[in-house]
Amino acid sequence: MLVKDNQAALHRGEELPLMEAFYSLQGEGAYRGSAAYFIRLGGCDVGCHWCDVKESWPAEAHPLVPVEEIAEEALRHSKIIIITGGEPLMWNLSPLTLLLRNGGARIHLETSGAHPLSGDWDWVCLSPKKRKLPTESVLHSADELKMVVYNHHDFLFAEAMAERVSPDCMLFLQPEWSKRELMMGEIVAYVMAHPQWRVSLQMHKYLDIR
Ligand code: SF4
Repeated sequence: MLVKDNQAALHRGEELPLMEAFYSLQGEGAYRGSAAYFIRLGGCDVGCHWCDVKESWPAEAHPLVPVEEIAEEALRHSKIIIITGGEPLMWNLSPLTLLLRNGGARIHLETSGAHPLSGDWDWVCLSPKKRKLPTESVLHSADELKMVVYNHHDFLFAEAMAERVSPDCMLFLQPEWSKRELMMGEIVAYVMAHPQWRVSLQMHKYLDIR
């Protein structure tokens, strides 16, 4: 368990559970191919069975790091900084994004939307999960809706979510990695029949980079 003093700092967003941070390429969605610095926060209470970062789930497995340290390191690397997880909106992200904003970064969020929005963002990528539906604040703020397709039912779920985001939100269908060969043909046919959607591939996995 996290100790009590640290819990207060976590609550205020002054310290965050940092799983890893690294400079790479954004592999998915609207900014695929762009160099970016990733801040992966620990903690997720959604529990997708196909999750490829299950080691992120227990927040207490990751050290609480002052946001000043996280921001200083991030700002040395890149202008695009992507905060991901885990589910980063479990935490108060306002202090971290304020520091990044003051440092001149472009700040992106990747979230399931399962918790209310905090922080100040240039780009919000929402990837809703059936196990814990997105909050209104994230639905309204989404610039990009990225729906992971694991099976046929996910097309219906994708359309239900698309009805709830703003009209100018970009729409992506992305095969779940272990099902990509099974589902890719259906996804291509779906996008051709419903061209408001685009295909997103996990380019970083094809390139074998982080
Ligand atoms: Fe994994 Fe993301 Fe689902 Fe959490 S929301 S279980 S991090 S895929």
